[in-house]
Amino acid sequence: MEVKILSARFDIDNAHRIDVARTHGAYRALDKLFAMAPAEVIEEVKASGLRGRGGAGFPTGMKWGFLPKDTGKPVYLAVNSDESEPATFKDRYILVRDPHALIEGIIICCWAIGCHDCYIYIRGEYTSQVKILQAAIDEAYGAGYLGARVAGRDFRLDVTVHRGAGAYVCGEETALLESIEGKKGQPRSKPPFPAVVGLFGCPTIINNVQSIASLPYIIANGAAAYRAYGTEKSCGTHLFGISGHVERPGMYELPLGLPLLEVLENVAGGVWKGRKLKGVIPGGSSTPVLTPAEAATVTLDYESMAAHKTMFGSGGIVVLDETVDMVRLVENLIAFYHHESCGQCTPCREGLGWMLKIVRKLLAGEGTVADIDLLRELCDNIEMKTVCVLSAACTMPVRSYLEKFRDEFEAYALDGGSPQPEQREG
Ligand code: NAD
Repeated sequence: MEVKILSARFDIDNAHRIDVARTHGAYRALDKLFAMAPAEVIEEVKASGLRGRGGAGFPTGMKWGFLPKDTGKPVYLAVNSDESEPATFKDRYILVRDPHALIEGIIICCWAIGCHDCYIYIRGEYTSQVKILQAAIDEAYGAGYLGARVAGRDFRLDVTVHRGAGAYVCGEETALLESIEGKKGQPRSKPPFPAVVGLFGCPTIINNVQSIASLPYIIANGAAAYRAYGTEKSCGTHLFGISGHVERPGMYELPLGLPLLEVLENVAGGVWKGRKLKGVIPGGSSTPVLTPAEAATVTLDYESMAAHKTMFGSGGIVVLDETVDMVRLVENLIAFYHHESCGQCTPCREGLGWMLKIVRKLLAGEGTVADIDLLRELCDNIEMKTVCVLSAACTMPVRSYLEKFRDEFEAYALDGGSPQPEQREG
């Protein structure tokens, strides 16, 4: 089931070094790139069907096409490398194992959108990763792929790495821009979208690491070669980080559209220790949970996930076995988002704290069934009443656990104890 496009150099020793990466194909798309007009590159990316790999799945070429023309202002690219969604670790692989794919992709994007200054916003906790990335950027400058004349062409491109300081919300694109500008990382209202008013008030494209690293293959091999993988609307391949209760957790590159359960069984070795499946988080902590019955019919693409009332998300699949206490899981989830709320909007700042108190009351055996209903009501009243989607990233999954595993919440409310405390692990 696995394919090697993004991950083609992942298992090659020292592929983070430019000499090794070049031996194995890095920067080969550039000759073709510079023979294309920028508008042709945008059309090629549109034709490839590439969609944003940060989680939202917005069509990449279409986003580039939203840039206003002839504003007289510079255009910026901000690469979103603030990979902070719990259970998501795909971009880390690119940064560490193949940073030159990212740099080559940045050159492609910047040529297409007419950008000469790119910022890579990397999460603060990626300390060893940032060293590898910066070393690769320095090598690219040394080899003439970045700087005053990119690959000998009359095209300047400078890349600056900007480190975050540990705030999850800075992965939200407008908070990311505020942070680069040196302000407090708090989201802006949209519209205007960053493509129109972004960094320093200028048109700005913000793309995820994996989206950008997908570009060299698309330009070198053509849109049709990329579309040969995946489904009609969910094209190409995706890096999936499979974690939790499976025999072989890890990072796997797969074409989009494969049946989830087959992937878990054949690629990740199935549920560990011969246990039963209780649920699957399909794409990072903010995506609504799937029951085993739903997991049996869903495929790994944007459309199937939406049809199952969840989201494709960031490719971070978490397998939950029969021992998982869903109420404790929800406590963990809410605690994370409550801690990461920037505090700008009252429903998020106060509401998530209130939700956390209710779940902890249930866990302490002091809750009632009315508290479960209140929790659900809070989800409805917090969601989409804020500037950004951070609180919705909490309420959407919480609602799914309340709907699909309500008996577990009721067991705490009525009995004051978990349904299977003796089986609980970790
Ligand atoms: P979104 O749907 O609001 O936007 C997606 C992108 O499309 C943005 O860049 C936005 O500017 C652009 N866009 C949308 N409509 C546009 C328009 N009309 N004109 C111009 N541009 C437009 O989603 P979002 O809030 O950016 O991201 C939410 C997703 O982020 C979630 O689905 C979640 O999976 C993911 N996420 C990922 C991580 C991670 O670590 N990878 C962390 C948290 C959340």
